[in-house]
Amino acid sequence: MNQRKLIYLDNNATTPCDPRVVDAMLPYFFEKHGNAASRSHQFGWEAEDAVDYAREQIAKLLNVEDKEIIFTSGATESNNLAIKGVFEMYAKKGNHIITVETEHKAILDTCGHLEKQGAEITYLKVKEDGLVDLAALEAAIKPNTILISVMWANNETGVIQPMQEIAKLCEKHGVLFHSDATQAVGKIPTHPRELGVHLMSFTAHKMYGPKGVGALYVSRKNPRVKVTAQMDGGGHERGMRSGTLNVPGIVGFGKAAEIAREEMGKDAERLSKLRDHLEAELTKMEETKVNGNVGSRMPHVSNISFKHVEGEGLMMTFNQNIAVSSGSACTSASLEPSYVLVGMGLGDDLAHSSIRFSLGRFTTQEEVDQAIELVRNGVNHMRELSPIWEMYLDGVDLSKIEWTAH
Ligand SMILES: *Cc1c(COP(=O)(O)O)cnc(C)c1O
Repeated sequence: MNQRKLIYLDNNATTPCDPRVVDAMLPYFFEKHGNAASRSHQFGWEAEDAVDYAREQIAKLLNVEDKEIIFTSGATESNNLAIKGVFEMYAKKGNHIITVETEHKAILDTCGHLEKQGAEITYLKVKEDGLVDLAALEAAIKPNTILISVMWANNETGVIQPMQEIAKLCEKHGVLFHSDATQAVGKIPTHPRELGVHLMSFTAHKMYGPKGVGALYVSRKNPRVKVTAQMDGGGHERGMRSGTLNVPGIVGFGKAAEIAREEMGKDAERLSKLRDHLEAELTKMEETKVNGNVGSRMPHVSNISFKHVEGEGLMMTFNQNIAVSSGSACTSASLEPSYVLVGMGLGDDLAHSSIRFSLGRFTTQEEVDQAIELVRNGVNHMRELSPIWEMYLDGVDLSKIEWTAH
């Protein structure tokens, strides 16, 4: 193998931009470079029309009204706008927000920020399979609860939360429901209105669109939700998000949404077969464990722990032939174990030994087969070198060993 082609299995970090998306964007950099807020000439009108069309394409994917889509710079901003915006807008109603320990940092850190401003935040634990405990969620609701924020699908495990049931609880208790749906939109059906989700964050670059553009869905009726703007300026996006719109990015986002609507079914079917094949082959090895509820999971994701194999080390054996993420160093340069996996009750060792494989629209069967081979060889190699693995094979109960020297 001297002609090396890097196999990209890290689509949950970001997806490549679909070439059809790039084609749609190109005219908006030069010929049609107008500012969508310029009302007095052709350039402005053209840009505004393009933004309107993209808004329609995105609204269609979600089955919502165009006006319910607020463009942002990405899901991080959408999450900030949703949570801070609701906290400020509904301050008279209460200050309590419920979220979950395994949320993305864009949710957790935003909540942390609000705690300093007087918010009361409940961080729910998840069950071992990564799902929210609905009884615990309901028990956490109080008279001053204004918002429940639960992600649609987890970025590390692909676990899909029981959205319908959570929405029902929100409805029953008159609490707003926000979801960070970044990993779900464009890959599985996500229809916030039908489900009872009132605010929903997502981003183009996780659904084969460009980076730097995202959106927040904000329900306009039953209930009519408002969020306080987090940026002051020209009052764009119905006053909720000021700033000149990223027209080429939005055009690409719209195209990505249109393609997703047409192709997500067939993509999901193909990818779940490939993912299942990858998983079946890799779990043939001893002491492997799939993390997260396999019955409620995104079709293209597999998070696997290879016991007694350190994930970052395993990735080095791939010699830059496969791009994946490990359960270490997901959020920082330090080798902290993934808080998502630890939150699901995995010990630090199992969290460190986990690898996230996330397939995408451009992943081929051949790449998956090559990846299986590389991972298998890597795991075997690491275990052959490991005295701990030898002890395991000798039947030593590793949990009973006193490791520190006295
Ligand atoms: C990627 C991701 C984000 C951040 O999205 P950006 O558009 O990069 O800001 C937020 N939440 C989840 C679940 C993600 O996977």
